[in-house]
Amino acid sequence: MAPRINGRTKLAGVIGWPLDHTLSPAMHNAAYDHMGLDAVYVPLPVPNEAALVRVVSAIRVLPFLGFNVTMPFKQAMLGLCDEVAAQARLAGAVNTVHCSDGRLIGYNTDGRGLLESVAEETGFSAEGKRIALLGAGGAAGAALVAMVVTRAARVAVVNRTKERAEELLARVADHARTTELVTVATDEAQDEVSSADLVVNATPVGMNGSMEMVVPAGWLRPGQVVADMVYRPAVTPLLRAAVDAGAKAVGGLGMLVAQGAMSVDIWADADGARAPRDVMRVAAEEGLGVQREGAGK
Ligand code: NAP
Repeated sequence: MAPRINGRTKLAGVIGWPLDHTLSPAMHNAAYDHMGLDAVYVPLPVPNEAALVRVVSAIRVLPFLGFNVTMPFKQAMLGLCDEVAAQARLAGAVNTVHCSDGRLIGYNTDGRGLLESVAEETGFSAEGKRIALLGAGGAAGAALVAMVVTRAARVAVVNRTKERAEELLARVADHARTTELVTVATDEAQDEVSSADLVVNATPVGMNGSMEMVVPAGWLRPGQVVADMVYRPAVTPLLRAAVDAGAKAVGGLGMLVAQGAMSVDIWADADGARAPRDVMRVAAEEGLGVQREGAGK
C-alpha cells in the first residue's frame, strides 16, 4: 500500500486506546485501494483525554478527510466537535468525524451500521417490529436511536443496571413518536425477549471465549433474528443458542464493516462514492484470521 502515498495523499485514522487489535486500518485501506481514493488510514493511539484534545487540535491543521473514534473516547469527542449530527447527539456518542473546511462534524454510524448489517444478512427491517435491546451503554444508545429513526414499533431496553436503561430512555423518549419504549431489568425480561422480532446484544458478554450469555437460551424462539455486537469470536454462545432455537443469527463483524463503510461514505460524499462493503469485510476477516494465528503461536 505504501508506494501509492504521495505529497497530496489525504489522511484518515482511528483514535482510541488500546488499538493493538483494531481491524479498521485493514478495512479502510482495502476500501481506498478499491475506490482509487488517494488516502491512507492509520491507527492514532491516544492514552488519555488530555492527549485526545491535543491530537484533535493537530488534526485540524493536517489534511484529514476524517477519523473514527473508538473506546474510550466516543463520549468525550462530542464536546470536541464544531457541529454534531442530531443522531449522534441523541446517542450521546461520536464514532465518526468529518473534517470539512476546517470544521469537525461529528456523526454516529454504529446504530445505522447495526441495522444495515442485520438487513443485509437476513433481510430484516426494524420498521414496525418489536425489539429487545440488551445493554444500555454507548453502543446500545446508538442502536436505540437508529431503531427509533427506523420507526420500530417497540423497543425494550434490558439492562443489568435498570437506572442506566432509564437514563437512556429519558434522553431518547421525546424523539420516539412512533416507537414505544420500555426498560426492563434483565431477570424480568423473558416476555420481552421471547416476543421480540429482533434481539440485540449490546454488551460485551460472550467475548473472547467466555461461555456467558446475557439471557438464557430458553428465552429465544424460532423465527427471531438475534444479533450480537460482539465479533470475537464470530459465533458467540448467544448466537449458537439462537441457531439451536431456530432463530437467525447475525455476528458483530457485519456491524463493524457497515459502521466503517458509512464513515467512508460521509468522507467521500462529494464524489458520490459508496464504500465497498464486500472488500472491507474480506479485509476485516483476514485481519481477524491473522490475529488468531498470532494468538496461537
Ligand atoms: P459500554 O458503554 O461499556 O456498555 C456496556 C453495557 O454492557 C452496559 O449496559 C453494561 O451494563 C453491560 N454489561 C457489561 N458487562 C455485563 C455483564 N457481565 N452482564 C450484563 N451486562 C453487562 O460499552 P459499549 O461501548 O456500549 O459496547 C458494548 C459492546 O458492543 C462491546 O462488546 C463493544 O465491543 C461492542 N461494540 C461492537 C461494535 C461493532 O461494530 N461490532 C460497535 C460498538 C460496540 P451496566 O449498565 O449494568 O454496567
